[in-house]
Amino acid sequence: MRIPVIAGNWKMHKTNAEARALCSDIRDGARNATHCRIVLAPPYTALGAAAEVIRGTNLILAAQNVHWEPKGAFTGEISIPMLEDAGCCMVILGHSERRQCFGETDQTVNRRLRAVMKSSLDPIVCIGETLGQREAGNYQEVISQQLAGSLDGLTGRELLRIILAYEPVWAIGTGRTASPQVAQEVHLGIRGWLSEKFGAEAARQVRILYGGSIKPENIPDLMRQPDIDGGLVGGACLEAESFLRIIHYDSRSTGGK
Ligand code: PEP
Repeated sequence: MRIPVIAGNWKMHKTNAEARALCSDIRDGARNATHCRIVLAPPYTALGAAAEVIRGTNLILAAQNVHWEPKGAFTGEISIPMLEDAGCCMVILGHSERRQCFGETDQTVNRRLRAVMKSSLDPIVCIGETLGQREAGNYQEVISQQLAGSLDGLTGRELLRIILAYEPVWAIGTGRTASPQVAQEVHLGIRGWLSEKFGAEAARQVRILYGGSIKPENIPDLMRQPDIDGGLVGGACLEAESFLRIIHYDSRSTGGK
């Protein structure tokens, strides 16, 4: 059964004091949320503060990126042992902002992923097409290519530790959500690709999140789609009130899949 995941990507927001306040509001409001796993991804500087507040709760701490080397002369980078030490259990890889603003490629995502697979961290691997690629009609090919490059060399067993996040670039931070039908079509295509590559059973078990302007108002319809297993939330995770409303989407009609 695929237990849903609601993950909040804080991006470059929140000081330590703000992080403590947000984490404690989410912790209190999500205490009874057993229908889904809740992941918080603060910036590196707030990981320690967040870890203190959520220790011993049902909230899972994640980082927004990580380097593949364990240590060394890589100014400005953060290693896997550092994230483990800070209390992280998960890490986001290949977010479109990393790809667009910082030159991340499928190959560098794959290097990070291979290093993460040797660690205690579980990855959330992001993929998604740009507006130009969607309008050109070849988005399924683009996504297949991203999957092939990012997941290169992975075994079916390792795949089960991965969460994928389909985030159409044109929907991120734009207020323009993919309709549930558009998102479902891509999620089904991703599962089909995984099935060919890793086998039907592994593909059935992998969780695929949707990301792109998720709000409390649109999460219930997205979650009703058979191949959408949760959300990666940006803007709406920065206030406890909206993130908690997303966490408490109407789970009665969806549950695990
Ligand atoms: C994201 O950053 O992963 C994201 C989906 O952002 P937003 O929800 O703001 O579109």
